[in-house]
Parts: sequence; structure tokens; C-alpha cells
Amino acid sequence: MPITLPDLPYPKEALEPHISARTLEFHHGKHHKAYVDNANKLIEGTDLANADLETIIKKSVGDPAKAGLFNNAAQVWNHTFYWNCMKPNGGGPPTGAVLQKINSDLGGYGKFVEEFKNAGVTQFGSGWAWLVLKDGKLQITKTGNADTPLAHGVKPVLVADVWEHAYYLDYQNRRPDYLATFIDKLINWDFVNSCLA
Ligand code: MN
Repeated sequence: MPITLPDLPYPKEALEPHISARTLEFHHGKHHKAYVDNANKLIEGTDLANADLETIIKKSVGDPAKAGLFNNAAQVWNHTFYWNCMKPNGGGPPTGAVLQKINSDLGGYGKFVEEFKNAGVTQFGSGWAWLVLKDGKLQITKTGNADTPLAHGVKPVLVADVWEHAYYLDYQNRRPDYLATFIDKLINWDFVNSCLA
């Protein structure tokens, strides 16, 4: 099985009260696991059977015959990245290299908060809000469904999952509240800085 479900980088209760253990049980144990299982079924017996996840994503993007594989493989990658973007007692203004780049490329932390939240709130339907590094500069962007900047030659450094399954048990329809909490209480800026390094 070349694609595996990684453990969460913290206990499932660790993000409470902001994201409940029950949300993580379903989100990691059911949703993320299903993407892993589906992707493995779709590569079995094909020329991608032993490829690494990033290769599978880059070789299936834009190919209508491989749309199912792209969706599942990209969702595996996006979720693993998302778990790493959060930690207990995270959030608030960053320090280090990412703060300098937020100041120079985005016009400061206040602008980052406003634009990142706006990207997540205005993603119609399921998708993801991203902070990415493109041509050496930070940008805020959003993608629909399973799509990922990784498939388009852009380096992700932070993501928030805005599929309803990410927040519905804890926030119901209040996606803006979930995003505000993600920014204020959950972002793992150490991980973001490690992605920039
Ligand atoms: Mn999700």
C-alpha cells in the first residue's frame, strides 16, 4: 500500500474546545481514511501503483480519465498538510521569516487575517483557503473541492479546510467563526516557517 494514512500530529482531543475530538475522529478517521483507501484502489495494477503521492497528483491533474484518482490523491495530500498547519495553543500573529514576508508581501498581519478569512468565506461550496509561495512572494488563494496549488507548481505554506465536514459538528453553518478561530487559536506558525525555509 504505497499511500498511507498518517497519524494526527497531536491527540484527537488536543485542539478542543476549538475543534472537537469528535470532529477529528470523523475528519481524520473516516474522511481522510476514505481518500487514502480510494486512491490505493485506483492506483492498484496501474503504472502509478508504486509512485509517491506528489507524483500521482502531478500525473493525474487535468486528465479526465484520472479525475477520480486526482481527487482522492489530492485530498490525501491536502488533509495531511492541514493537520500539520494546526497545533494546540497556536494562532495569533506569527514570528520569524513568515512575519517578515507577511509584512512585505501582504501588507501586514491585519491584511493577512482579512484576506485569508475572506478567501475561506467566499469559496463557494467545498474547498480550501491557502497561503502559498509563488515566484518568491506570499499570496492568498483558494481552491475548489480537491484542487491543490501543489498540482499547479505553486508551493503551499498554510491551508484551512473549508469543506463542511471540517467544521459542521462544532460550528454548524458558521464558517466565518471557524475560520476566525483557526486564525486566532490554531495556526502552527512553526510549521509554516518550516515550509518557507
Ligand atoms: Mn476535509
